Amino acid sequence: MLGIERVALAHCVGRVLAEDLLAPADLPAFPASAVDGYAVRAADAGRTLHVAGESAAGRPFEGKVAPGTAVRILTGGVLPDGADCVVMVEEVEEKGETLTVPAGLKAGQNFHPPGADLHAGERVLPGGEQLGAAELGLAAALGFPRLPVFRRPRVALMSTGDELVEVGEKPGRGQIVDSNRWALLAALREAGAEVKGLGIGPDEPDALRKLVVDALREVDVLVTSGGVSVGTHDLVKPLLESLGTVHVGRVKLKPGKPFTFATLPEGRVAFGLPGFPVSSLVTFEVFVRPALRKMQGLTRQQRPSLPVRLGYDARATADRTEYQRVTLRREANELVAETTGSQSSSRLMSLAGAHALVRIPAGDQGIKAGTMVDAMILALP
Ligand code: AMP
Ligand code: MG
Repeated sequence: MLGIERVALAHCVGRVLAEDLLAPADLPAFPASAVDGYAVRAADAGRTLHVAGESAAGRPFEGKVAPGTAVRILTGGVLPDGADCVVMVEEVEEKGETLTVPAGLKAGQNFHPPGADLHAGERVLPGGEQLGAAELGLAAALGFPRLPVFRRPRVALMSTGDELVEVGEKPGRGQIVDSNRWALLAALREAGAEVKGLGIGPDEPDALRKLVVDALREVDVLVTSGGVSVGTHDLVKPLLESLGTVHVGRVKLKPGKPFTFATLPEGRVAFGLPGFPVSSLVTFEVFVRPALRKMQGLTRQQRPSLPVRLGYDARATADRTEYQRVTLRREANELVAETTGSQSSSRLMSLAGAHALVRIPAGDQGIKAGTMVDAMILALP
């Protein structure tokens, strides 16, 4: 887990609360009228009362509501001492400085007593939760201008491969545009990381090493794409082996077989993602995103999953678990999953617009259309 910092509310959106937030005081702090009307005593029901003054929001009436009197009150105004209920303006008959209140008033009606929303000492937000609009509103209402949040993971991001050119440049023969860096930049930011872009690393051991070693000084995590398969130009795995310990160098996953994970000195970690665009994003989802969420102290690391009905026959791969990309549609009371088409690891169109990933266990069985399966939800339709 990363360290804790105190951050101004304006910069807290999307951050993860590092400690339980307790209410320092009751909310509301005073009995506050819920309507426009008159603060009265329930015992005066049915009587004609003298109007003694007004309690507006932010401008309380300082006197007391004595028997036989009422105080005009506006929404958010403090219920004056002596009064025990508010009668709505629509329910009284006003005549000059007097008014007649209906029979059958109930003590406690039409105002929020102190602590109605929150009691002093109550846990308002648990540590490990991500902060959004309502959470930040609550923090402000309770008087916290800053909140303790976990530091964001700093991630160095690099594409590798001599075939890559920058987006906007025209690829020559045999060259392709580096798209992984932009896809992974988005995925990293969405996962809460602060990204330091390292550009395109060459397929040349010394230059690659220098780029990585320099960058590591300032980050917690290294994420690379490409260069982890077994070709002679695949230099990331040997580089990580020389810098730290490679724990995973291959996984039984499709797409994403060459996924590599290493620990590096001083608590840093490195993820060597495969080069094929879908492989890099799927392994990001499966391994990197949960790790980044854990580093930020989030209680929930996994995407939500929901039962869906397969709308197609899913073929399995003999020796690898497959994460197939699907769209979802609502049908009756269910979600039905349809394949996004060719599941080639180079075909980003299989992931663009996908609503979920469906896990197909390795084997020769596959899963027949009509079967209920769990889907890892990326976005609901
Ligand atoms: P590699 O794992 O380095 O052998 O890469 C496998 C394939 O993934 C390459 O042949 C490219 O077609 C593709 N690829 C690698 N890096 C990128 C990248 N940054 N952007 C888009 N495609 C890439
Ligand atoms: Mg390569």
